[in-house]
Amino acid sequence: MNQEISTLIALQETDTKLAELDRETETLRQELAGREQAVRDKEVLADQCREKAAELEQSRHAVKAAAEEAAERIREGQIKMMQVQTSREHQALLKEIEEAKKQIKDTDDQLLQLMEEAEAEEARATELDNLCKGEQKLLADEAGRVEKAVREIDSRRGEVLKLRSQFAEALPPARLKRYEMLLQKRKGLAVVRIIDGVCQGCFMTAPPQQYNEVRKGDHICFCPACQRILYYMPDDADDSASSQPADQAEEEA
Ligand SMILES: [Zn+2]
Repeated sequence: MNQEISTLIALQETDTKLAELDRETETLRQELAGREQAVRDKEVLADQCREKAAELEQSRHAVKAAAEEAAERIREGQIKMMQVQTSREHQALLKEIEEAKKQIKDTDDQLLQLMEEAEAEEARATELDNLCKGEQKLLADEAGRVEKAVREIDSRRGEVLKLRSQFAEALPPARLKRYEMLLQKRKGLAVVRIIDGVCQGCFMTAPPQQYNEVRKGDHICFCPACQRILYYMPDDADDSASSQPADQAEEEA
């Protein structure tokens, strides 16, 4: 195989490795951010519970004030009762007093319910606060672990990057430029194997004549469909050869 093709294959392997390492870092950071967001969501929920409890407490005060007014109406009604002349007035006053008494009775149930609801909201807020405290502690440890893992990935990344510049420098600048352009346009995959005439980048079949050209490996060939750089690897070398560059890159990283 042409030396330039081998170098391009190696360069692709290192770029694939770099992309993998970047994804690893991204995943670690996203997981941590997700957990941090979950804690913030709980904090917001706890605040909402406390607001709800305060509203319920306000309602309780309003209901209590209305009950005190009703009690006042009863007292006034009872005083008036001693002064009424007609039975009609008497009946009307009695009715008023009964209504006020009923209001007070309903109020008691309402007050109890409002108090219970407010207490439940407060209890939920406290529970959430405790959960958040616990999780924040765990998160602080987790953030430390993630940072350590990211530093390790960065150091591996640095090694792979060194290797990459060696391969990149070994290529003619125009070839490197074209490779990098392809890498960008073809989602990080610029150099692909051809198997039974099929490009493993876009899975289109190359014309037989071109397949033969790629098999010879004398010069660089491009897929007519996706323009990726094609290389041929014999089937008997399949297991060892096709996975070798990746293993090498990993060991050296
Ligand atoms: Zn293709």
